[in-house]
Amino acid sequence: MTDAGIRTLLIEDNPIHARLIQRLLDEVEGQHFQVQTVDRLDLGLQHLRQNVVDIVLLDLVLPDSEELATYFRVRAEATDLPIVILTGLDDINLAARAVEAGAQDFMVKSKLNAMSLGRSIHYAMEMTRAQRGEWDSPMFRLAQQQFLKASQLMKLDDNLRQRLLYPQRTLIVSFPFRRDEQDQVETVFGYRVQHVLSMGPTKGGIRYHPEVNLGETAALAMWMTWKCALVQLPFGGAKGGVRFDPTDFSRGELQRLTRRYTSEIIGMIGPDKDIPAPDMGTDAQVMSWVMDTYSQQVGHTVPAVVTGKPVVLGGSEGRNEATGRGLVYVVEAAARKIDMDLSSATAVVQGFGNVGSNAARIFHDSGVTVTGVSDVHGGLHNARGLDIPAVVDYVQRHRTTEGYPEADPVSNEELLQLPCDILAPCAMQNQITARNADRLRCRMLAEGANGPTTLEADEILHDRGVYQLPDILANAGGVTVSYFEWVQDTQNYTWSLQQINERLQQIVTGAYERTARRAETQHLDMRTAALIEGIERVVEAKLARGLFP
Ligand code: NDP
Repeated sequence: MTDAGIRTLLIEDNPIHARLIQRLLDEVEGQHFQVQTVDRLDLGLQHLRQNVVDIVLLDLVLPDSEELATYFRVRAEATDLPIVILTGLDDINLAARAVEAGAQDFMVKSKLNAMSLGRSIHYAMEMTRAQRGEWDSPMFRLAQQQFLKASQLMKLDDNLRQRLLYPQRTLIVSFPFRRDEQDQVETVFGYRVQHVLSMGPTKGGIRYHPEVNLGETAALAMWMTWKCALVQLPFGGAKGGVRFDPTDFSRGELQRLTRRYTSEIIGMIGPDKDIPAPDMGTDAQVMSWVMDTYSQQVGHTVPAVVTGKPVVLGGSEGRNEATGRGLVYVVEAAARKIDMDLSSATAVVQGFGNVGSNAARIFHDSGVTVTGVSDVHGGLHNARGLDIPAVVDYVQRHRTTEGYPEADPVSNEELLQLPCDILAPCAMQNQITARNADRLRCRMLAEGANGPTTLEADEILHDRGVYQLPDILANAGGVTVSYFEWVQDTQNYTWSLQQINERLQQIVTGAYERTARRAETQHLDMRTAALIEGIERVVEAKLARGLFP
């Protein structure tokens, strides 16, 4: 679409119908159409090859093509364009079959008016945009590229590659909820994606963020599959999310939205099916509402339907800090390997939410000097070291790191470039890219966030000798203690914090050692080695189960 209007290709051989449609398009209110009319299919296909088109209006019966073949030939030329079929009353069944085959809509020519035609075109274009936009996420492209790179090195069978490249189940819901002013009702989009169902129940967090879409959720679900397999947990990967900004919402609004979202996805989740957990924008309170809503629906209390709950509801000791703690355990194992003395090491942590604040606190407690931290508003730097308990206390009182007195303010971009031994991005995806990778001044990159580094940046960092601890390894502590929580819930038995931390350390250190060994023996970077560890286990399980029927 340009400022000059919606570029419309009308393929219609009847000149009277063509003139009628052109006239109606001129009458559509609020829209302007630049129409090119052709009366044969070959001319239409030629136009599509040579011009940019926003929408095709298509008569299926033409002098040089008839019936569904007309639709399929246009679709082959215009794979992701909206197509509206124009039909006579006698051909409605044919038009309906074209819609079943992927056309966006059909209109009966004798019943057309400007409003119905304008609406149909608007709907077809919105639907196509939503379909394209839902999958089209940089994060999903990154997850798929990483997988394809690993599968090529593994010489993975085509069939398995195709089966693992997309999630097995996806659900998109749109649902309303009430704001605090009772007359205000808002509609939001929610998602639940299950990537691999072959390993046991699926497992993955719920994200509340304004950029959530199907592609992002699918990327996170795919990474969950490799992560669970890498740390050898009996789960496939899943993820969920709702597209909105939770920072604007009251507690009552968050509760209503969470309960409605839970009831929308209730058929997909369950303690033996799919077990959600917290991710960005959600916490133990949100998990309590999910658990309560599910329990109300089935008529009895089901703690094992989510993890990351408060301990009083069957949550596990140590779950809240598990991702940050796991990250520090993996860094400790890596430091032993590359001879880094942690007692004199410095760390910079991006993000001060669940993962970042706990990682910073545990680094600080274990003697690492944390010189920089940040949140969405910016960062803090103190080359002599930040007093992390004091920063945590400040953030609890002010809800931001901004204004903390014992440090210099820096931007998030500057924070990533501070000199340090360990840089831990623990906020968002897509932070370390080809644009800034050559300016990082760390020896080790420990990824607390999911997908913080692009494929191009990976190569730059690898060439520069930065030791990488990839996300599926460095942040696997969260799902590991979630697994402990699920086991405790299903057995009605509780473990002590000491037992939890010891088992966590054993599991993530084991995963680190397997990854480092593979990287060394097969001359791989650490991310590819970790991915192959995970993918191999999933492939082995899929092959053992065989194909149904
Ligand atoms: P939280 O919502 O608790 O915290 C996110 C933090 O990142 C906040 O400090 C937020 O600032 C900050 N932030 C948000 N946007 C930006 C930005 N553009 N630049 C810099 N900082 C930003 O999320 P989590 O800690 O739970 O998750 C963080 C990452 O870790 C995500 O990638 C998540 O998928 C991953 N992860 C989380 C796990 C968990 O157990 N929670 C498990 C495994 C991975 P502010 O508070 O000011 O908004």
